[in-house]
Amino acid sequence: MKVLVPVKRVVDFNVKIRVKPDNSGVDLANVKMAINPFDEISVEAAVRLKEAGQATEVVAVSIGPAKAEETLRSALAMGADRAILIETDDTVEPLAVAKILKCVADTEKPGLIIVGKQAIDDDSNQTGQMLAALLGWAQATFASKIELGDQKAAVTREVDGGLQTIEVKLPAVVTTDLRLNEPRYASLPNIMKAKKKPIEKRIAADLGVATAPRLKVLKTEEPATRKAGIKVTSVGELIEKLRSEAGVL
Ligand code: AMP
Repeated sequence: MKVLVPVKRVVDFNVKIRVKPDNSGVDLANVKMAINPFDEISVEAAVRLKEAGQATEVVAVSIGPAKAEETLRSALAMGADRAILIETDDTVEPLAVAKILKCVADTEKPGLIIVGKQAIDDDSNQTGQMLAALLGWAQATFASKIELGDQKAAVTREVDGGLQTIEVKLPAVVTTDLRLNEPRYASLPNIMKAKKKPIEKRIAADLGVATAPRLKVLKTEEPATRKAGIKVTSVGELIEKLRSEAGVL
């Protein structure tokens, strides 16, 4: 069974992001980019299924600018077999991403698509759900465990207050949560090998999917900065401040 893994190029999660002075968005100039952390978990899950003999091929796919090739190479270095870049310089919103992924799924015919639960740049948490709907496939979101059976999968989901295990028929779309696994570090030889692997490229516009944005971001703001704490000299002063200033007593 083939497993398709979408991987998005996003700002590295270690980077402290800066909002542009005109509040029109996040400043991406000279910022380190990396594979979306949830997608790294998806690649790890797919590679583990292959290592367990349950998947035959892992195909990574990214929709984005030419530089998204680096993201695909990260997936190849972790163990993906093939990589497909659907090139576009537009900002592609989740619905258009889902439609493009459907086109890829129609040709690649995977038995399972493992999508990240959310991209850490737009925090949409929509693509996997929309993709399942467009394909008419079953979906299991926020997976912390995936067990494949005969034409079906048992997926444990992270839900409020606990874990829920559901069975879905394959083919299906599964979205990954943080506790599914701890992604491996790619070894240096694998990183070097991944540099030489071919990337299959297609132009997004050729797929007949409209990528023009439907949403308009009105304003992007940084979170309010935390106020500095103060030191008190006695328990009495602490109680007084909790009562008069914090209003919690
Ligand atoms: P979102 O719905 O934007 O939060 O994204 C959820 C997931 O959809 C991500 O973790 C990726 O697996 C996938 N995805 C979103 N955008 C892209 C993209 N441009 N290229 C590849 N995969 C994507």
